[in-house]
Amino acid sequence: MDFSKEIKSAMEPLVQDISALCQIDSVEGEPEPGMPFGKGPAKALAAALAMGERMGFRTENFDNYVGHIEFGDGDEMIGILGHVDVVPAGDGWDRDPWGGQIEDGRIWGRGTLDDKGPLLTCLHAMKILKDLNVPLKRRVRIILGTNEETNWGCMDHYLHQVKPEMPVAAFSPDSEFPVTFAELGMLQYTLTRDIDEPIEIEGGSAFNSVPSSAKVILPASLEAEVRQAVADSKDPSIYQITAADGKLQLSVTGVGVHAKDVDQGLNAISYMMDILGKVSVTGQLKEVADFYNTHFGTTVFGEKMGISASDEISDHLTLNIGKIQAADGKLTLYCDSRIPVSIKVDDVEKAVQEKIQGTGFTYELASKEDPLYVDKDSDLVTTLMEAYRKITGDNESQPMVSGGATYSRAIDNCVAFGCLLPDQADTMHQANESLEIDKLEIWLQICVEAIYQLAK
Ligand SMILES: [Zn+2]
Repeated sequence: MDFSKEIKSAMEPLVQDISALCQIDSVEGEPEPGMPFGKGPAKALAAALAMGERMGFRTENFDNYVGHIEFGDGDEMIGILGHVDVVPAGDGWDRDPWGGQIEDGRIWGRGTLDDKGPLLTCLHAMKILKDLNVPLKRRVRIILGTNEETNWGCMDHYLHQVKPEMPVAAFSPDSEFPVTFAELGMLQYTLTRDIDEPIEIEGGSAFNSVPSSAKVILPASLEAEVRQAVADSKDPSIYQITAADGKLQLSVTGVGVHAKDVDQGLNAISYMMDILGKVSVTGQLKEVADFYNTHFGTTVFGEKMGISASDEISDHLTLNIGKIQAADGKLTLYCDSRIPVSIKVDDVEKAVQEKIQGTGFTYELASKEDPLYVDKDSDLVTTLMEAYRKITGDNESQPMVSGGATYSRAIDNCVAFGCLLPDQADTMHQANESLEIDKLEIWLQICVEAIYQLAK
């Protein structure tokens, strides 16, 4: 079918709707009665549902956790999973992050790319199919979450309290084109031990980032040894040694990247521990360094923890130590693994727990996500790829594997599809998040085609 005429006339209302929805600050807030994630997400959900209602679709709001917008008849249903909450604006904007300005061929604002723009693109795609009375065998349901950026409390409520009808196939337009058919499993945990000596050590800031800096305070008497160990190291330029007040500070400058790309970073904590293992530190600091160098060292694929694994689809298991902290009588390591789709996350967790038994460190789970995997040759993936290729003419880009996490792993037979195009600037979660209107038109074309092909 040719939708080009309808696409043209749908563009202006689509741009206006995205601008309007992005003017609602829907960052998670304090829970209020009937608003589990605060006022902002509830307000954005109401606004998006009102847009669906205005177009003549059936809508439903599940206690401000999740909403539906549904279209069509038929026993089976195609799902589209997105979210109306956003991350905080942050600093560095040239425009009002909540202004929804339409200027220089773009819509500006938090949420234009992640995920209000893509979500409304699918809504307007649905409207095009409705207005044309295109015969479809399956219903199409947009599922709007309100707590994707933090704890997925919306999906939890939806799947376990609402217990809705499940789609036969679904996609989440919350990533990039073309299709992400596999997302790695994820395991985040802390390893903690008691300390009663004054250890001054710090590095990194979060589970999911490779630390770009770390430092430790040592006795001044170790200066010659530390200098020698640094001089003998593979890259002395990453270390800085400063002596003052009878103390020695060893600082390390690493390369910070996302934990899923751990082999492209340089972990400042690991390289600090490498030096500590080569000089005569004593007491609990020595115990910590020994533990670290035995279980992690400077490896990044979990070799020393005994959890290394790989498969053809998803390459290596990764293990990142994102942060070290010594405070309140405790020393804590923050660990993050991305796990190949063929490996059970529970098995990795068990292996870590067994490995650290008797070391004085205790394990505490922070977050666990099973992988997403849909066969590359499935109807869902091939249909979405065909829609993408038909519109863009891009026959080079292939279905992808990602270390990130979208809603698509929350339900069966769901993949991430769109909406960032391969040549489109990614400003998600950054200052000056914005959406080029000419790219938006391509999004709309792809989404109409994809929904039509899945539902017909
Ligand atoms: Zn998102």
